[in-house]
Amino acid sequence: MDNLHNASAHLQELDSLHHLHPFTDSKALAKRGAKVITRADGVYLWDADGNKYLDGMAGLWCVNVGYGRREIMEAVAAQMEQLPYYNTFFQTTHPPVVELSAKIAELAPEGLNRVFFCSSGSEANDTVLRMVRHYWASVGQPDKHIVISRENAYHGSTMAGASLGGMKPMHKQGGLPIPGIEHVMQPHWFLHGADLTPDEFGKVAAKALEDKILQAGPENVAAFIAEPVQGAGGVIVPPSTYWPEIQRICNEHNILLVADEVICGFGRTGNWFGSNTFNIKPDLMAIAKGLSSGYLPIGGVIVSDKVAEGLEQGGDFNHGYTYSGHPACAAAALANIRIMQTERIVETVSDSTAPYFQSKLMALAEHPYVGQVRGVGLLGAIQLVPDKPNRTAFEKPDVTGTRCREHCLDNGLVMRAVDDAMIISPPLTISVAEIDELFEKALRSIDQTFS
Ligand SMILES: *Cc1c(COP(=O)(O)O)cnc(C)c1O
Repeated sequence: MDNLHNASAHLQELDSLHHLHPFTDSKALAKRGAKVITRADGVYLWDADGNKYLDGMAGLWCVNVGYGRREIMEAVAAQMEQLPYYNTFFQTTHPPVVELSAKIAELAPEGLNRVFFCSSGSEANDTVLRMVRHYWASVGQPDKHIVISRENAYHGSTMAGASLGGMKPMHKQGGLPIPGIEHVMQPHWFLHGADLTPDEFGKVAAKALEDKILQAGPENVAAFIAEPVQGAGGVIVPPSTYWPEIQRICNEHNILLVADEVICGFGRTGNWFGSNTFNIKPDLMAIAKGLSSGYLPIGGVIVSDKVAEGLEQGGDFNHGYTYSGHPACAAAALANIRIMQTERIVETVSDSTAPYFQSKLMALAEHPYVGQVRGVGLLGAIQLVPDKPNRTAFEKPDVTGTRCREHCLDNGLVMRAVDDAMIISPPLTISVAEIDELFEKALRSIDQTFS
């Protein structure tokens, strides 16, 4: 135990000296030392001190098939032996990227048949921004350049990704958002719904998009981008009236609809895509995370036939990444999808584990310090509140959520806090018994937070 502890302390010291962490206050981290994760299997993680955790976040919303999948490792090793790298520029291709493109087209909603590849969700959304503008220019409407997104959305961390995103603390750093991007209200009934019913509020939130389009002039608006369910913003499941209105508005004003499926894609909501669950007909979909279950970095933009044909009128699309369609990453994604299909993971989520998970989640709504629970599929949020009847938030956001997260870790559970909402997004392979364990630990941690 002592040796283990020393190993961890040494790594923590080197880490704080040389490693700059994403989304982290380095000075604060140096004081306490980073948690060193050394091993994982199924839905469980182990740290360098031998502590075991149930991973209620599937890494960062991505390890959908769970940890320790030999099939993926072997597929990647075999591909690396055969062809570790080649590009897809200059009119070349290779077997894994061809096979993966066809597989994604087969799984995607009708009419979405082409895929542009990249290495992450952020790159996917950078591609989206350039692609929708180039599309409109290619079909002779270059004025259509404004992209509308939502407050508190998360679309990644690059210049375009963070600009499309609606997170104020991100905009404050690095001079964002870049020009030509507008934000409208998020469909977050708990915070913004006031006296309206969720369904009434859903229409109000959708109308904010129509107002913005009319204000900018539809002839200037290229696209609307949104996550079917806002993930990093706090698992915000929109009221049932929201998406049908958004779809109508985009159709009526000739605006491309972009679904950011980086979290919702690949089974998270109980269907292959969030667009299936919410009956959205997107023109483009951004994907990453669950595409390879995080085993290797890969993302993409799935493009409708209409957009693909429009782009063809524009000649060269001067955009691409050295690692677009990387063979080893494509092989990992293919092996991941093969597992999902062979084990019927999406079907098991929708028929069995998601209903069970949602019933356990809904039961937490009775708790005196839980103001709202939100969820769909294997996504969930538990909104902690000081004053339940009035839907008020804590005076200092973040403190209670952070305290609850610490209790979770002490109890062997990784749950994330977004302000004072506790977020759950476990591997899609989680069993009923593991769901019981997750909620038993979550409840204990919430009780300890308020005792
Ligand atoms: C994580 C995420 C991204 C960014 O993906 P990265 O791979 O971290 O660049 C984009 N959109 C959504 C909805 C995400 O959750």
